[in-house]
Amino acid sequence: MTNEQKALFIIFGGTGDLAQRKLYPSLFNLYKQGFLKDHFAVIGTARRPWNNERYQEIVRNSISGMEVTAKQANEFSSHFYYQSHNVNDTQHYETLRKLADELDQKYTLEGNRVFYLAMSPQFFSIICQHVKTQGLVTDNGYNRVVIEKPFGHDLQSACELNEEINQYFPEKDVYRIDHYLGKEMIQSIPALRFSNNLFNALWNYRYIDNIQITLSEALGVEERAGYYEDAGALRDMVQNHILQTVALLTMNAPMTYTDEDIRKEKISALKALRVYDAAGVKHNFVRGQYGPGNGQVAYRDENQVDPESTTETFVAGRIFVDNMNMANVPIYLRTGKRLTKKETRIDVVFKNAPYNIFGDGQLNRNILSFKVEPNPGMELRLNGKKVDYEEYSIETMKLHHEHGAKTQSKMPVGYEKLLYDVLKGDSSSFSHWDEVYYSWRFVDSVRNAWDNETLAADAFPNYECGSMGPQASKDLLAEDGNNWYLSPDED
Ligand code: NAD
Repeated sequence: MTNEQKALFIIFGGTGDLAQRKLYPSLFNLYKQGFLKDHFAVIGTARRPWNNERYQEIVRNSISGMEVTAKQANEFSSHFYYQSHNVNDTQHYETLRKLADELDQKYTLEGNRVFYLAMSPQFFSIICQHVKTQGLVTDNGYNRVVIEKPFGHDLQSACELNEEINQYFPEKDVYRIDHYLGKEMIQSIPALRFSNNLFNALWNYRYIDNIQITLSEALGVEERAGYYEDAGALRDMVQNHILQTVALLTMNAPMTYTDEDIRKEKISALKALRVYDAAGVKHNFVRGQYGPGNGQVAYRDENQVDPESTTETFVAGRIFVDNMNMANVPIYLRTGKRLTKKETRIDVVFKNAPYNIFGDGQLNRNILSFKVEPNPGMELRLNGKKVDYEEYSIETMKLHHEHGAKTQSKMPVGYEKLLYDVLKGDSSSFSHWDEVYYSWRFVDSVRNAWDNETLAADAFPNYECGSMGPQASKDLLAEDGNNWYLSPDED
């Protein structure tokens, strides 16, 4: 039987892009499955002077592309209430509190509240402060605050933000969203690592040669240029999604699969990241910016972008997690905009057998690939016997698994799984403050080295739209005798 959850969601930024594209469809999926049923309500707040009818119509529009009947859409959207609200205005929180208390009674929500901050980070602490001081926090239920990325701009600003939030909400009630952690194949990393002795036994520096993580995007900066100019690929993708993935790939086995134990191990892994000095950054990191190509304009010609911008739209790096199991295993990471195609994949590349009895040729590497998107699945490359009368020779075999259409249709999308975890109080797929701290400590070392380096006038742009980034990203691996196994530009 489906476990119905009782809660009031207060979504700050209820008219925004994230709320409409991700949150309402995810809430609807939870509703369709019965996790949300009679005992839930949503208050959307934002500056616009909308009323409930208008808001409910927006909610229905946001789910209109899904499998939904008119009756379901009406019933679902009837749980949504709109409150025009300026987050800087203390008075408005009083009105919000009254509405929240009313809805708590009406739907018997038992004081459970989820405050979802789907707004610009500059408002995060003012909202937390007012929610607490204006009495929106209940005594009888849980009060959880969900915080969107980015959590800070660097280590110092993240520490300041965290201190402010912790004045009003304890760490256990703070859910820092990293939607990558809600993706099925990212969630599958611990399952494959720790439930198969095949991998459990081999997952260390003795058998793993290197790990390659690629998060490539085909799109450019679109309408996010204003934010992106200041953030760049390093802050936008590496600090959160990539380093969270690194933590799952390199952490030691948690004692039990509970949020407390998982987070303990992830924190240790991120604490063990080798932090570089300026020379180390120069040797181990590559940055890039796209020029024109493939019918697309250069980054510097995009709207809201400085024509002399030095913001990186591509990063590749070689990093190390200095713990007993993974020391000296290079982890290559790569992310960028306007690359060949949108794809997220992790390749765990194993060392070759110590001796090749089959002749002079090189054996191919065993590679375990987590295919995160577009088609979630996994692949294991093995060496096998080639079918041949004359010669006994070796060729690569690929064992491939993709969830069937039926399972895929049941797969929760990132936000849906994460929202469900918030309702259950499971914080294992959210970043603990210490994880954020060590991630920023590492990212700051790269950022500071770049900021103190004078970039040659002709350094950017250095890759064409539609390629897989600058040549230096390939050279980085070639220095170690390696290459990117994911190379859609060469297919
Ligand atoms: P948005 O600009 O589309 O929406 C912002 C919302 O905040 C709007 O509802 C607006 O009315 C409201 N708002 C702004 N100032 C206000 C004020 N003073 N008082 C009350 N309401 C105010 O932004 P978005 O794209 O939805 O992003 C929201 C957050 O989610 C940001 O932190 C962003 O980084 C993060 N995020 C967004 C996406 C996405 O796909 N859109 C993805 C990842 C993270």
